[in-house]
Amino acid sequence: MPHHTPLMGTIVAGFVVAFLMGALAHKLRISPVAGYLFAGVIVGPFTPGFVADIALANELAEIGVMLLMFGVGLHFSLRDLLSVRNIAVPGAVIQITVATAMGVGLALYLGWSVAAGLVFGLALSVASTVVLLRALQARNLIDTERGRIAVGWLIVEDLAMILALVLLPAIAGMLEGRSGSDGGGSLLTAVALTVLKVGGFLAFMLIVARRVIPAALHWTAHTGSRELFRLAVLSIALGVALGAAYVFDVSLALGAFFAGMILGETQLSRRAAEETLPLRDAFAVLFFVSVGMLFDPAVVVEQPGPVLATVAIIVIGKSLAAYAIVRAFGHDNEIALTVAGSLAQIGEFSFILAGLGMQLGILPPEGRDLILAGAIFSILFNPLIFTLAAGRLGDVKRQDEAKAQEREEARQRERREHVVLVGHGRVGRLIAEGAAHRGRALVVIEEQADFARQAEEAGREVVVGNASNPHILDEAGIQHASKLIIAIPEGFEGGAIAEHARRLNPEIVIFARAHSDEEVGYLERLGVDHVIMGEREIARAILGLAATSRPAA
Ligand code: AMP
Repeated sequence: MPHHTPLMGTIVAGFVVAFLMGALAHKLRISPVAGYLFAGVIVGPFTPGFVADIALANELAEIGVMLLMFGVGLHFSLRDLLSVRNIAVPGAVIQITVATAMGVGLALYLGWSVAAGLVFGLALSVASTVVLLRALQARNLIDTERGRIAVGWLIVEDLAMILALVLLPAIAGMLEGRSGSDGGGSLLTAVALTVLKVGGFLAFMLIVARRVIPAALHWTAHTGSRELFRLAVLSIALGVALGAAYVFDVSLALGAFFAGMILGETQLSRRAAEETLPLRDAFAVLFFVSVGMLFDPAVVVEQPGPVLATVAIIVIGKSLAAYAIVRAFGHDNEIALTVAGSLAQIGEFSFILAGLGMQLGILPPEGRDLILAGAIFSILFNPLIFTLAAGRLGDVKRQDEAKAQEREEARQRERREHVVLVGHGRVGRLIAEGAAHRGRALVVIEEQADFARQAEEAGREVVVGNASNPHILDEAGIQHASKLIIAIPEGFEGGAIAEHARRLNPEIVIFARAHSDEEVGYLERLGVDHVIMGEREIARAILGLAATSRPAA
């Protein structure tokens, strides 16, 4: 047995303790993120017992960041990015300025230098990719206008931080008078070099990678090997990110985002996204564990005032600034609250900045401790803030409630005896078309936002969400429906949907799709009236064709 296995120890301890704490959080009905952070504190150096390797945990977390940004890139087109530039660019710049000013204010109050305040403020101004994307994903908001604004804003913040990381050493040199009179000159050179590198990266991606990467992926798909395809997707996501970081000094997150964006233009992007999902989720969890590991709970007891002020800047100051900016640009309350709520936290970039600030001797160690405490509390509060924002939305919406209820009742009346169709993919789409031909009232339930949008564009009534959730079935009016057609490929998941539907409406006639004999048996046992096994139907169709077709003369 090998005794020194830090990598394995860190991965296994990270996953196991995160699972246990995540499950506990689920039981206590709090956000699983709180569980993962706490897991990090448990395996971290500030609590007794097993201590995982912080440096390794951070690197593993970076893989999570890359895969997350790759996934976002897959759904984002260059057009999406450009469509939000009018708000994202000034928004991010103004918000960074406001947050940095507040950080400098607190730093001066604590007796630090202006330069320390600058690093501290910048670290408080940049939101974490992982936290923002998870919050948006959990609420199905990525593909909405507010989701796009928040992601665009994050990209601009990312770019600004790359510049800050490059400028920091030059500024530190200038402040110490090391570079003498040419301080301004070296600053300018550093800026120009960074802009050139980022420009070089973008040009490379848009001119070279845009041709080579999709072609490579198509070729791999045609080999027919699933394993090779999976490897190709991972190589592209992680390879481009790391390559970009090495060659162009661009952040890993940004590199992965552009790799995703280029693949997003291809037909294979959906499969690519599915291939990275399990790894992405696992490594994103390690991100939270790694943040928890850095946290020393003693700082809360030793410096309660500064900790509170730091958290207030991140949670209150930053969100108020973002809210005001978005409103000032003429967007509605809903968009302003989502953007403000999603950005009211800090994460990975802040740690990198703090680390560099300390290395350069600008930031005192208390600064880093406060940034860490600010990160952990703002990440912890983030789901709550999002819910509060949604609550405020609830207030606004309540005024329209009476009208909405009237409309809903009319819809329910219309909906009696309708057909509920789960899934609008390859199978569901054809069923929906057929039903429309026959003039049947139909409500589609589809969990993927882009497929749901397609269904809406085809004129269907759509409920977006997972049909195994009884609330979603309820929203589709299952109680008054005559038929339920479960057109999803997962027979066992279909069983759960059928069970809920039967409970809510004992009379309903249920059709389901299966792909194995086990699934057929399972669905029939659960009382599905008609189970259609795809493979049997394909065989039947082929036999029919073979029996009637004649060889060409
Ligand atoms: P296909 O296998 O191409 O017919 O696609 C199945 C469709 O069903 C996809 O668009 C999925 O997003 C959708 N889907 C799968 N599971 C669920 C579920 N539990 N609730 C709603 N939609 C689902």
